[in-house]
Amino acid sequence: MNFKRAVIKVGSALVSPENKGCSGKYLLAIAGFITECQQAGKEIILVSSGSVAAGRQLIQHCSLIPSIPTKQAMASVGQMQMMANWQRFFDVPCSQLLITHGDLKDRERYINIKNTLRILLNNNILPIVNENDTVATDELKVGDNDNLAALVALVSDADCLFIFSDVDGVYDQDPRHNPAAKLIPEISEITDEIYAMAGPTTNAIATGGMTTKIQAAEKAVENGIETYILNGSRNDVFESLLKGENPGTRFRAKQTATKARKHWLKHTLKSSGKVYLDKGAVNAIINQGASLLPSGINEILGKFIAGESVDLVNANSKQVIAKGICQYSQQDLLRIKGCNSNEITDILGFCPSKVIIHRDDMVVL
Ligand code: GLU
Repeated sequence: MNFKRAVIKVGSALVSPENKGCSGKYLLAIAGFITECQQAGKEIILVSSGSVAAGRQLIQHCSLIPSIPTKQAMASVGQMQMMANWQRFFDVPCSQLLITHGDLKDRERYINIKNTLRILLNNNILPIVNENDTVATDELKVGDNDNLAALVALVSDADCLFIFSDVDGVYDQDPRHNPAAKLIPEISEITDEIYAMAGPTTNAIATGGMTTKIQAAEKAVENGIETYILNGSRNDVFESLLKGENPGTRFRAKQTATKARKHWLKHTLKSSGKVYLDKGAVNAIINQGASLLPSGINEILGKFIAGESVDLVNANSKQVIAKGICQYSQQDLLRIKGCNSNEITDILGFCPSKVIIHRDDMVVL
């Protein structure tokens, strides 16, 4: 296993296999795998489904497919049960993040999610993410946790995505109807033919089926994140993974995650402002791989909010030396430029970050 940071998505069928509350049946082995990864120095973020299934029995309902508000109430009560169920398998603390697509599309919220994840991982905590089902209306919703997991992999700069469900991977035909169906171990290009093999979900508990898993894989590999679809109900799958083998379907990343991210920062993300730096900051960024601190900032041009991209300019030569995602709006930056990081709270009354642009969010040109 040569990844550094992975997002592991666990489907409802594993959290609540009987669709009747939470079960530890499969989670014990998954938690064991996560712990082994953490002990090997890898960072893990869990995206867990199952809150609706976990709360199903606790909310009265008469139809097999409950109404949206009924499901939201199930998710609300089930989320507690699901989190408690996970925590009992870990010695490390677990934390809960409930997010929506609306949150991930909003620049300021996006950077808040990113900062929170960074700090949780630095403190050896296992972040557990789910969609905030209570507030998510259709346009705010990701809708399924497979695609949510891909977006979490992007926001957290992961280099690997594992999608665990109760199927072994992608088959060339439907294995439930064709005993001759073959598992496809490796997919290097996601074509219409691959989607056609997926077919819709037939599981009453799961939301997405194979199609959303392939959509998630497509998003991830485009961004340099290697993706696996695996059977999380089989113990031998975890043993194989730990040996570095591929027991399911692997989607090859198009390039490395770092390269994809730098490319995105450099070429796709439009800069909304310019931040002029003194000699010390220019040197620290170019020669020492440093993050940008407020003390090195001379001047700010343009209008931007936190989470937008800015050009970093050498105030002396007027050359653009780097580009990065700024933790502060231009209005706040004007007030803290030149100061020490420890003074940010006194000046602004809050301090979401001691650095203005984190090194991971910067590309030197
Ligand atoms: N957020 C939903 C839940 O926790 C799951 C969505 C999905 O399974 O994709 O039940």
